[in-house]
Amino acid sequence: MRHNIQSDDPRAPEMGQAIENCVHCGFCLPACPTYNILGEEMDSPRGRIYLMKNVLEDALDVEEAQPYIDRCLGCMACVTACPSGVAYGDLLVGYRSMVEKDRKRPVMDTVTRTMICETLPYPNRFRMAAATGKIGKAVKPLLPDTFATMLDLLPDTLPQAKPLPDILPAQGEKRGKVALLLGCVQQVLAPEIAYSAAHVLSANGVEVVIPKSQGCCGSILSHVGEADKAVSVARQNFDVIPDDIDAIITTAAGCGSGIDEYELLFKGQPDEEQATNFAHKTMDISAYLAKIGLREPKGLDREMIVAYQDACHLYHAQGIYDEPRDLLEQTPNITLVDIPDAGMCCGSAGTYNIDQPEIANQLGQNKVENILSVEPDVVVSGNIGCMTQIKVHLEHKTKTLPVMHIAQLLLMAYQN
Ligand code: SF4
Ligand code: SF4
Repeated sequence: MRHNIQSDDPRAPEMGQAIENCVHCGFCLPACPTYNILGEEMDSPRGRIYLMKNVLEDALDVEEAQPYIDRCLGCMACVTACPSGVAYGDLLVGYRSMVEKDRKRPVMDTVTRTMICETLPYPNRFRMAAATGKIGKAVKPLLPDTFATMLDLLPDTLPQAKPLPDILPAQGEKRGKVALLLGCVQQVLAPEIAYSAAHVLSANGVEVVIPKSQGCCGSILSHVGEADKAVSVARQNFDVIPDDIDAIITTAAGCGSGIDEYELLFKGQPDEEQATNFAHKTMDISAYLAKIGLREPKGLDREMIVAYQDACHLYHAQGIYDEPRDLLEQTPNITLVDIPDAGMCCGSAGTYNIDQPEIANQLGQNKVENILSVEPDVVVSGNIGCMTQIKVHLEHKTKTLPVMHIAQLLLMAYQN
C-alpha cells in the first residue's frame, strides 16, 4: 500500500514501512478477534491499516477512525497470520501515541485513563487502590460500567507479599546469572509468580538478582499511547540492573512484548542505545529456561492434564510458542492438551477489558468454553492478564479450576 505520510516523528519510517508491506491479501482477517466478532472490514487488521494511513496522511479525521482503532486489542494475531511480514505493532503503537494529543475524549474516558496511567504502573499506589476497591464493590451497582468492570477484575483480598532476597543463589552447579523483573500489577495481584520464577531459576542453577529499586517497564503506558510517560518510567530501570548478567527475565507477556518495542519507543532519545541493549537482554522465563535446558524436575505428585493458554503477547508478539510447551512436556506427570482456537485472544489485552468490556467479555467467554471443552485439571499461562481474565470468566460459569503461571507449576514439580 503506497503512502504519503509527512511526519518528522522518528518512528514514521517504520510505520510507513508497515503500511507499504501490506498487499491487501486479507489472510489476517480470520485471525483477528474483532473481525471475528464484529464482521466489519474496518474492525480488521487490513481495515485498520488503511484507516491509520488515511489519518496520518491528513485525509481522515482522527475521531472518525478512532472507534475502530480503539477496538483493536493489540493482540498481534494478524502479525502471525500475515505472509508479507507487516509489522502491525510498529504502526499501531506509534500511531496511538502520535494521535493521542488530537483526541477528544469524553470526561469519563479521561478520568478512567488518568486513573489507569497514574495507578497501574506504580505498585504502592495500585496496592492502595486495589484495597479501596473492596469498598467500591459494596457500591458497585451505583457506579458507571467502566468502574464496575475494573472492580470485577480485583480480588476480594490482596494476597500476602512473598518476600525475595536481593540475590537468590544458584542451586548446585552454577549455569547462569539473571536479573528478575517483578512486574508492577503482577507483584500486587500475584506475588507468588515472581517468587516461583526466582526459585525455579535457582533450582536450575541460575543466580537471580532482584533489584528492589526497579519500577514499571512502561509497557502498560506505551500500549495505551502514552509514549512519553512510558519512556520516562522505563528508563528508571536501566541503571538498577547490573551489567554482569546473562539475561533480564520477565514473567509477564505484556512486559516482554513492551520491552521488545524499546528500540522504536526510544528512537531519537539520548538513551536509545541503552534501551536497545536492555531490550536485547530481556527474555521471558520460558524462553530462557528452554534455552539453558531444564534441569530434570521430579514432577508433579500426581498425573495432571494441563491446558496451556497462549498469551498473545508471548505467542504473536514475541513468537514464543514451543518453549513453554517443551518445558511442560519435559515435566513428569503432566499431560499437555491443546486448547481449541489457541491463538485467539482471551480479551484481557492490557486495559482492554476496562476500555471495551463487551468484546472482552465475549472473548473471555469463548476462551473459557474452549478451555473447559478439553477438561483439564489446571490451566497454565505466562501472563497475569490472561490468568485474571480466565479466573473471572470461570467464576461467571461457577466453575472451579486452578489457573496458574507456568513458573508456579514448574516450582511444584521441583518441590514435590
Ligand atoms: S495479511 Fe498482511 S498483507 Fe495481507 S491484508 Fe493482512 S496485513 Fe495486509
Ligand atoms: S492486533 Fe489483534 S485485534 Fe488488532 S487488528 Fe491485529 S489481530 Fe485484530
